[in-house]
Amino acid sequence: MLERGFVQVYTGNGKGKTTAALGLALRMAGNGGRVFFGQFMKGRLYGEHRALSALPRIDVRTFGGPRCLRREEVTEKDREMARRGLEICRQAMLSGRYDLVVLDEINVALWFGLVSDEAVKTFLDERPGKTELLLTGRYAPRWLIERADLVTEMKLIKHYYDAGVMARDGIER
Ligand code: ATP
Ligand code: MG
Repeated sequence: MLERGFVQVYTGNGKGKTTAALGLALRMAGNGGRVFFGQFMKGRLYGEHRALSALPRIDVRTFGGPRCLRREEVTEKDREMARRGLEICRQAMLSGRYDLVVLDEINVALWFGLVSDEAVKTFLDERPGKTELLLTGRYAPRWLIERADLVTEMKLIKHYYDAGVMARDGIER
């Protein structure tokens, strides 16, 4: 599908990283390309999964537990789920079946220590030249920003979260 693939990163504290990734997936599928959309640290069924499962050419997988993980409460099981998730994404990428591979929230998984820098660096090293790779999540590490070809920072100007409005179905999940 693509003549050449690049590495994209969507990071920053403002809203829009995962929704932008979903938009890119939609665009790729609409052009006849195939998408593997892996989501780290998410175990529940979100609106996007129900919508994407109705579409051809987009495969979604989640790698996480049902609860919202806190950095101080990471267990070996959480690390295992994330490591296994990265391996599933790696197999998908290496299968040659996908034009776009998304690792949603992988930056947070790195920041939480669920996956190692080395594992993600190896993943990037193994990217086939025609595969587009997108890594999302707050706290993208410096080395990843330097390695990526495109980096967008969603800048927090204002968010109703700070006024106590929690995630809403249809808007945040
Ligand atoms: P979206 O999925 O809407 O595009 P995103 O991927 O850019 O958003 P994430 O960083 O993944 O955003 O945020 C996920 C959740 O974190 C949101 O559902 C929101 O309720 C919550 N959140 C928003 N702002 C903050 C904040 N300042 N601190 C902690 N959690 C926040
Ligand atoms: Mg997100």
